[in-house]
Amino acid sequence: MRSPPPVKLTQQLEARLADLREDGLLRELRRVDSAQGTRIVIGGKTLLNFSSNDYLGLANHPALKEAATKAIEQFGVGSGASRLICGSLAPHHELEEALAAFKATEAALSFSSGYATAVGTICALLGRDDVIVLDKLVHACIVDAARLSGAKIRVFKHNDLDDLERILQWANTRLPASQDATRNTLIVTESVFSMDGDCAPLREIVALKERHGAWLMVDEAHATGLYGERGQGLASQLGVADRIEIQMGTLGKALGASGGHIAGTRMLVDYLVNRARSFIFSTAPSPAAAAAAAAAVKLVRTAEGETLRQKLWQRVAALKSEIQNLKSERPSAILPHLVGDEGAAVEMSARLRERGFFVPAIRYPTVARGAARLRITLTAAHKASDVAALANALATLDLRPRT
Ligand SMILES: *Cc1c(COP(=O)(O)O)cnc(C)c1O
Repeated sequence: MRSPPPVKLTQQLEARLADLREDGLLRELRRVDSAQGTRIVIGGKTLLNFSSNDYLGLANHPALKEAATKAIEQFGVGSGASRLICGSLAPHHELEEALAAFKATEAALSFSSGYATAVGTICALLGRDDVIVLDKLVHACIVDAARLSGAKIRVFKHNDLDDLERILQWANTRLPASQDATRNTLIVTESVFSMDGDCAPLREIVALKERHGAWLMVDEAHATGLYGERGQGLASQLGVADRIEIQMGTLGKALGASGGHIAGTRMLVDYLVNRARSFIFSTAPSPAAAAAAAAAVKLVRTAEGETLRQKLWQRVAALKSEIQNLKSERPSAILPHLVGDEGAAVEMSARLRERGFFVPAIRYPTVARGAARLRITLTAAHKASDVAALANALATLDLRPRT
């Protein structure tokens, strides 16, 4: 009789968890017993919520709920299979038509999440012979996608155009264009960075990628719905959207639903339908999620969407005028307060929670070690008095960086 293999992993997991706890890096789920909104109920206590990416307050908006409910009535709850088998339901097609019209591209493709969008798209486009060039602060899903693609990964210093150009020059000496046309370079950045709220110099990056013959993918997860004349995103506001080959966005942040998307040429979308594995080998998102996202895309383009954006920027301006050391040049709904030490950030977050404010401490591996921070996010649904209350609570904490 063979004896079972020794179960070392059990002891290791225990030790690893103990290490995380010791380093102030242990994460735990907090059960929320209410809808997403400016007030959330955690552990029986109502907290003012400054942690959500629901920047326009759409996650609980009647128009989205109605669209989702109608979709459930007509199409049921589950989508039955992947899009290519039999799950390509009308709400998905309507969503993609709405997204393409919104982004003024030939086509769009939706995915079950932003994470799946990045992984599916990057891995479909790049392989071993290619180079992928990432901003130092891009989201984990882009880093994971780059690794999984097998392409050579180069990282440029955050928003540093000289460093980016140096890498592009290196990539071109490595691949003489005429000799091997199958070698490609893809630059990936975010338009508004998720943990700092600052913006990429998209015009300059577009100029660079054109000069060096690279493609550009821009993740607008924290800009879709918020920037540009109708909320199309920062690329649109800066007038360079039509020069970006791959426009990525999510549906679960300002758009209040869930999922991710790519907007681009018909050819790009046709190719992704054939080659993006996270799209092909995954059950289609629920029709309710697609219908809610489509309703959101329509809503952000209207006067109501514009009113919500104005309200959000008012709240941001109000908080920034109260708390001077929150950094961000262009208004962004993300207002980080850098603390440095992980334990100190967790403690500040706990003290705020005791006073009725939910402001998360963001730690490694979401940000670098020693760069822990409070990440305050504001939404159009916050009242002026909510922001004033938060400013008061922050003023009584010692907010000087401890690094
Ligand atoms: C949230 C986020 C994603 C992932 O989107 P999900 O829909 O949550 O999977 C991708 N990129 C950025 C920059 C994000 O902030």
